Amino acid sequence: MKRFDEKVAIVTGGAGGIGSAISRRLADEGAFVVVTDMDLDAASSVVAEISASGGNARAVRTDISNGLACADLVSDVLRVNRHIDILANNAGINRRGNLLDLSEGDWHASFDVNLHSMFYLCRAVLPHMIENGGGAIVNTASQWGLHPAPNHIAYNVTKAAVASFTQNLARDYAPHKIRVNAVCPGEIHTPMLEAGVKRSGRTIADLERLVPFGRIGKPEEVAALVAFLASNEAQFMCGSLVEITGAQAVA
Ligand code: NAD
Repeated sequence: MKRFDEKVAIVTGGAGGIGSAISRRLADEGAFVVVTDMDLDAASSVVAEISASGGNARAVRTDISNGLACADLVSDVLRVNRHIDILANNAGINRRGNLLDLSEGDWHASFDVNLHSMFYLCRAVLPHMIENGGGAIVNTASQWGLHPAPNHIAYNVTKAAVASFTQNLARDYAPHKIRVNAVCPGEIHTPMLEAGVKRSGRTIADLERLVPFGRIGKPEEVAALVAFLASNEAQFMCGSLVEITGAQAVA
């Protein structure tokens, strides 16, 4: 028996670095995974990979900054897959800049993708999880939501809000056995990180020197933590914000 046999999971940003690793991990452990992303081709490639290794998944295009699209996604999964046991709210964008550098569009887009999507998806999923007697929601926040790095105010504020959203939701829905937790990664080697490194003029080697563990993190390491939090092994974890950083302090 695998940890997620007979479970259905939605993973947002499922085509990205961390999201594809979460999708593969949950599928490897028996879940049926709905890999959802703006980029349908990339999500379909993740599904093809999962299918090739014997897992079950399907790709759905959703722009999670749109409330109606989020509601449609949840209705579609309930119609096709009948239940939703795990929601991994993972998609995010990182618009660099201090308050004067950022455009109003960047500010709003950061909130729409990083925070409002969680409001839309959780509102759509919670009534079903309540009726079903429980569920697990794992949000991807960031270490920078707890300890802000300079020149990323929009990103950091949205991730701080994700942390608070997680704790609030956990308190309100723990009586229904819905466990809500968040992972707070440090530097993880993904397309988002590569884009950030390019913009800053630094190199991956520069970043690695700042991590006491000696290297930056791998998407699979975050995926393993998400899988643990989504599993029954984390039965009493509810409202936790778990940092995964290689002991790096924010500089
Ligand atoms: P990534 O850029 O590789 O993946 C993000 C995915 O989200 C992409 O596939 C993108 O298409 C999708 N996406 C973006 N906007 C969307 C929208 N409106 N609707 C649907 N999908 C959308 O990034 P990643 O590094 O894998 O990041 C995943 C999560 O981890 C994010 O929430 C990010 O903030 C968080 N995080 C990453 C790091 C890191 O170092 N990489 C550190 C801390 C937190």
